[in-house]
Amino acid sequence: MTNVGAGNRIDSNTLLFGVIGNPIRHSKSPIMMNRAFQETGINGVYTAFHVTSDRIADFAAGVRAMGIRGVNVTIPHKLDIMSVLDEIDASARTIGAVNTIVNEEGRLIGYNTDGIGYVRSLKEEAESELAGKKIVVIGAGGAARGIVYALANEKPERITIANRSVERASELARSLQAEADIQAISNEELQAACEEADIVINTTSVGMFPNTEDTPVDASWLKPDAVASDLIYNPLKTKFLRDAEEHGCRIHGGLGMFIYQGAYAFEYWTGQPAPAAAMRETVLASLQP
Ligand code: NAP
Repeated sequence: MTNVGAGNRIDSNTLLFGVIGNPIRHSKSPIMMNRAFQETGINGVYTAFHVTSDRIADFAAGVRAMGIRGVNVTIPHKLDIMSVLDEIDASARTIGAVNTIVNEEGRLIGYNTDGIGYVRSLKEEAESELAGKKIVVIGAGGAARGIVYALANEKPERITIANRSVERASELARSLQAEADIQAISNEELQAACEEADIVINTTSVGMFPNTEDTPVDASWLKPDAVASDLIYNPLKTKFLRDAEEHGCRIHGGLGMFIYQGAYAFEYWTGQPAPAAAMRETVLASLQP
């Protein structure tokens, strides 16, 4: 990877990167990643591609033909993209979703950095020791899959998954059964699970802008010394986190996960440490009203 000194310079050697999704214009990834290139002096540029589901194979052909070095993948393509890649990293295969592609001279390799990004953020910002902990995960969608997989690697005592559609929680628990003690429960059993939990994580979209007064769970069910964690970063402090903080809990928002999933992707593409603090500063500034 060539360094060209501070600042993004676009010339004949510029390496191309981007994110695909639908919708995509709200994405903070381009400002975050371009700041990372600028900060490290890497001659790269990162943009957002609005790609519809019927053009996924065309997109992959374009990445190979144009030599686009790296791509992030977001909603709704994290599953579909897997069928057009040449290789999928073992953990991404177990998770069943890819959010990062590395183009190794025309071979497209898929990774998942969502779960490891989340766990790095949780450990750095809220709870450094996850071994032996009782963890409740609310939600069983795409983001929950990567997170439960990464949490399972931390040797928790138990992971309990609750979801509106309980069969989706059961399916997730079943698919990752080999990794840790993982149980699925219905929302009716959620209160009892929260009362015992050391960490309660919201992976649903409940509470996300513009529905900022919604919350997925009554924070008074949590132990006062528990960690309340939310994947949402818009708003930075959801109602769930505000209520939990008032109740005495330690709180952890979704911004760190976003930064670190991007940091890991940057590291896969460039082989260099990501400037995570600068990336966070840029995203945070863009989220201020
Ligand atoms: P997803 O695959 O669509 O899953 C959505 C989840 O939310 C499902 O479990 C769904 O339950 C549940 N849900 C949605 N509306 C609900 C409601 N009204 N009541 C109860 N449950 C509801 O989405 P995702 O990709 O996993 O994303 C989930 C959240 O994580 C989003 O807020 C997203 O912004 C956030 N996220 C953050 C980051 C980050 O970097 N910080 C990264 C990825 C995602 P059902 O199964 O019953 O439908």
